[in-house]
Amino acid sequence: MTRKVMKFGGSSLANAARIRSAAKIVAEEAGKGTSLAVVVSAMGKTTEGLLGLAEEVSCTTDRRELDQLLASGEQQSAALFSLALKDLGVPARSYTGAQAGIRASGMWMDGRICEIVPTAILQGFERGECAIVAGFQGLGENGEILTLGRGGSDLTAVALAAALDAQDCLIYTDVDGIYSADPNRVGNARRIDCLSYEECLEMAVLGAKVMQARSVEMAAKYGVPITVLSSFQPGGGTKVQEKCVGEDLVVRAVVPDRGVAKVAVLGVPDVPGIAAKLFSGLAGRGIHVEMIIQSTMRGQVNDIAFLVKKGLLGEAIDACRNVAREIGAQGVNFDVEVGRVSIVGAGIANHVDVPGRMFTVLAREGINLDMIASTSGSITCVVALDRLDDAARALHREFIEEEQA
Ligand code: ADP
Ligand code: ASP
Ligand code: MG
Repeated sequence: MTRKVMKFGGSSLANAARIRSAAKIVAEEAGKGTSLAVVVSAMGKTTEGLLGLAEEVSCTTDRRELDQLLASGEQQSAALFSLALKDLGVPARSYTGAQAGIRASGMWMDGRICEIVPTAILQGFERGECAIVAGFQGLGENGEILTLGRGGSDLTAVALAAALDAQDCLIYTDVDGIYSADPNRVGNARRIDCLSYEECLEMAVLGAKVMQARSVEMAAKYGVPITVLSSFQPGGGTKVQEKCVGEDLVVRAVVPDRGVAKVAVLGVPDVPGIAAKLFSGLAGRGIHVEMIIQSTMRGQVNDIAFLVKKGLLGEAIDACRNVAREIGAQGVNFDVEVGRVSIVGAGIANHVDVPGRMFTVLAREGINLDMIASTSGSITCVVALDRLDDAARALHREFIEEEQA
């Protein structure tokens, strides 16, 4: 029997009509005799709404309570989706993450899936039911609910596809695939037919919102084939798999990211163990850091700068100030008026001309580069936030539009 996982994001479930039309897509697939696990996100902007409400009622951040609260968004969607399917004559049953056998561990609001025991879902399949699973949540120790990080329903879908040995993991969203840049910001962005896990992961890590980075990492680990599709219109789609044959562009995508802030710890003494102290302190508070750059030495000190997600900036500054006092650093500063723009393509590092071309394009636009970093598959520049879209458009013209012309 063929098994598939179909995941619907918040935009695909924004209201009752959208839920009904997503249910129709599932009903059509169920009519082919496929066993289906459907993973759902919270409706529309429900997660933001719940976070906003929590801020209104309390100025303390209690992550355990936030997990309890946020998980309710996906549970609401699952029950509503199941009702919509039953209405179409399709047998269905909704499950919370815990009921679906999804076990998680780790930190509040950043849980990791450690095991899936899909017994209840498989029993449901035997009864001919679709399983509608609340995404973004798992059962932690002592019966606690853990959520899986923003965008975590993608992770639920991929993990469930691996656990169920599903033939396909279909991610339905509001665009008909993964594009060479965010189609909502770069008008000439082109849909990519096929992306390797490596390229998709690089895009996701660098801030392309369309797939959660950890879900792509898991898909690569278990070889889960992903297809990104629109729930609003048929056709199109992007396949994400191990290898794509016949793709000859060096740069596959341009990724602008407005969601980061820069933190700099200034005048850090140049002795062993300082970076260890700083970044262990941040990790201990669950703060992910990216693009760590240490400047060259000035006298006996140097500066260490890095990026954090804007939402974690307050905590990051607090953690850095504590460590800065302890290690005798000169101070901590930050900048929220920045964004990063990256060019992504497997093997970019093998092309000698690419960095020079990237910096020339940005210089021609009069855009100053605040930080630069590269990996084997990407080059990233931090620029002023108000020039981010200009930078993305110019790079897209140079590396995608003119190359394909
Ligand atoms: P969902 O609610 O389905 O999870 P998301 O908002 O997480 O949807 O992801 C879809 C959005 O990702 C699109 O609306 C688009 O604006 C954005 N996006 C950013 N970069 C890209 C890209 N390279 N290709 C496609 N979409 C992208
Ligand atoms: N609702 C959660 C979020 O907004 C999870 C998801 O949609 O994937 O991050
Ligand atoms: Mg998403």
